[in-house]
Amino acid sequence: MKIVAATIPPVHAVAIASIARPPRLLETLLANLDGMVYRCRDDDDWTMEFVSDGCLALTGYQPRDLLFNAAISYENITHPDDRKVVRDTIGDCLAVKRRFELEYRIVRADGAVRWVWERGVGIYNAEGGLDALEGFVQDVTARKEADQALLEAERRYRSIFENAIEGVFQSTPDGAYLAVNPALARIYGYKSPEDLIVSLRDIRHQLYVEPERRTEFMKLMAEFGSVSNFESRVYRRDGEIIWISENARAVHDDANALVFYEGTVEAITERKLYEAEIRHQATHDALTGLPNRTMLHNYLQRAIQSARQKGMLTAVVFVDLDQFKYINDSLGHQVGDELLKTVAQRLVSCVRESDMVARQGGDEFVLVLQHQPDEANITEVLQRILNAVSRPWQAGEREFLITCSIGVSRCPTDGRDVETLLKNADLAMYKAKELGRNNFQYFARWMDTQISNRLEMLVSLRRALDRDEFRLYYQPKISMATGHIIGAEALIRWLVPEQGMVPPDRFIPFAEETGLIVPIGEWVLRTACAQNKAWQDAGLAPIPVAVNLSPRQLDQSLPEFVRQVLAESCLAASWLELEITENVVMKDAEKTVATLNALKRLGLQISVDDFGTGYSSLSYLRRFPVDALKIDKSFVRDIALDSDSAAIVKAVISLGHILNLRVVAEGVEDEEQYRFLLKNGCDEVQGYYFGKPVPAEDFTLRLRQEAVNMR
Ligand code: C2E
Ligand code: MG
Ligand code: MG
Repeated sequence: MKIVAATIPPVHAVAIASIARPPRLLETLLANLDGMVYRCRDDDDWTMEFVSDGCLALTGYQPRDLLFNAAISYENITHPDDRKVVRDTIGDCLAVKRRFELEYRIVRADGAVRWVWERGVGIYNAEGGLDALEGFVQDVTARKEADQALLEAERRYRSIFENAIEGVFQSTPDGAYLAVNPALARIYGYKSPEDLIVSLRDIRHQLYVEPERRTEFMKLMAEFGSVSNFESRVYRRDGEIIWISENARAVHDDANALVFYEGTVEAITERKLYEAEIRHQATHDALTGLPNRTMLHNYLQRAIQSARQKGMLTAVVFVDLDQFKYINDSLGHQVGDELLKTVAQRLVSCVRESDMVARQGGDEFVLVLQHQPDEANITEVLQRILNAVSRPWQAGEREFLITCSIGVSRCPTDGRDVETLLKNADLAMYKAKELGRNNFQYFARWMDTQISNRLEMLVSLRRALDRDEFRLYYQPKISMATGHIIGAEALIRWLVPEQGMVPPDRFIPFAEETGLIVPIGEWVLRTACAQNKAWQDAGLAPIPVAVNLSPRQLDQSLPEFVRQVLAESCLAASWLELEITENVVMKDAEKTVATLNALKRLGLQISVDDFGTGYSSLSYLRRFPVDALKIDKSFVRDIALDSDSAAIVKAVISLGHILNLRVVAEGVEDEEQYRFLLKNGCDEVQGYYFGKPVPAEDFTLRLRQEAVNMR
């Protein structure tokens, strides 16, 4: 900048003051101005020719100290760090004859540093030379500090946004992003926040693996205004699927209209994997990777329910390795572990994917085979397992052979709850061991007795007939219409010396299996007919007595045998009722129909026992000459507990009536069950509520009492 000293008149304070002294009005205005008006030279000192009274407030110096650099120059008041900028800026503007405007710092008389804003203009003479600078300087420290604070806050927030480990976003309700931070771009696999905003324009379909998650997100937003720990699977840019957790809120404008969502995103894939791992560990066996006991129980629980709904068999298969302990002890645990792993794999290969292979512990495995149509199917799988396990296996150089023993229980035949099914499969497995290992055994009721092996059982049962160890107990059937006894069911008991009374469930299945049921059944029929005749002879009101029949008894010779027994006992056929179980009816239907027809021709009654536990359809029953249905006690027991059972009972009653059959409910134990049956039109009831099965003598007393009551 050129200083045109020649154009400036000789310096004299008084002269200048008189030249520059403004009129009075202007003086007042200047005095009240918050700032300093000046006129100065364009020299190294910014020599002041005039300053207004605001000088003192602005700089802390009296105007007279500053005028003509009397005590200090304005150059010196200017902060040392800003002097060059000030000079350059003003110089540049003067060079092109423009107004200048700038902010810089000054140092006040008391040493305080203040920010000032200055605005000014060059004053030129007629020749175009610069005479002076005139302008205005104002303290703007307060505003400057506020700006600075704002800037600082903004910088800090930006830093949090930019450097956060969590993804941060603002997104629109229609599924695009307004802003995202670098972390979110990183989590989603984009090059930069800008790349993400441009590329990801449809959050619902481009981001969420399950687009319904977006619907859910918006629903929660609409309902609660926020989401927290909202976990979803999302696609990264490269298509990889990751887990994220979102915390977000809806932002509304003053009119309460939704403007955008904002929130954070955390990548939680690792945590998810970890959780899955923990879950896996809790439910799986570490050595073989198979489901453990906990998972087995849950699975079996569901399988039982499903078996009931679908009406198919579920098999619980207990597999125990033979002589495993020997291998473990002689070859070491490592070999033992390898063997268990091999067996686990082989077992898995024998079943369908929907079945379960679990490790129960030690060398015991449990398989659950679902939806089996029949026993033949199960047997096929068992055979496969025996073969697979007994294939030679290698440990190092050596080859080994191992076999297993298998026990099987079926749902619903052998049990309808987890504990019973497992216990019975286990029992059957022990029988398989007793029978020489490397074989399978289906559970049978007799296994559940004190008598520990088949041979012993066979001998005892055969002797029981000769030794007169069987007893018949009688349980009353009550008419719903009159409340009187209208029949009795004969139920066998076995009085085993030193063991007491053995219930039929414990030995009838074994007797059926071995054929002993035929002579036992004959004894029952003879005894029951003779007893009934004796009651009639004693003058008691005649009632029919029901006798249970096993499937094995139901062959062509049965009608002739029954005829003989009736003849021998002189009992009219109408006082005899035969109970056959539902499954008998269904099996071998043609032959059964012929036999039943022959029996019916004798004039007796036939009822279907344990109705509801088998799988026959009611309409199928139409083809059979039966007179009554006995609803199984398990449904009666659950009437109050389980709506399914109540519905089944109702359905059996009404459909039974449609088919013109009497309907009997067995196992009635309380008032509530009785009322339910009464309300729903059941014809007869039987159960502890009306009388337990009792020996003939006790039943005689009951009949006598009844006769008295009826009089
Ligand atoms: P079932 O023919 O269904 O007989 C009814 C069973 O329910 C009897 O068991 C009876 O004691 C029991 N019961 C009766 N009222 C109630 C009650 O209110 N609550 C409960 N919880 N149970 C009740 P039991 O005497 O142990 O007979 C079991 C099964 O053994 C019979 O079931 C029948 O299938 C068979 N059975 C019994 N005697 C003979 C027989 O002489 N020959 C053949 N083949 N099977 C028989
Ligand atoms: Mg019965
Ligand atoms: Mg029954």
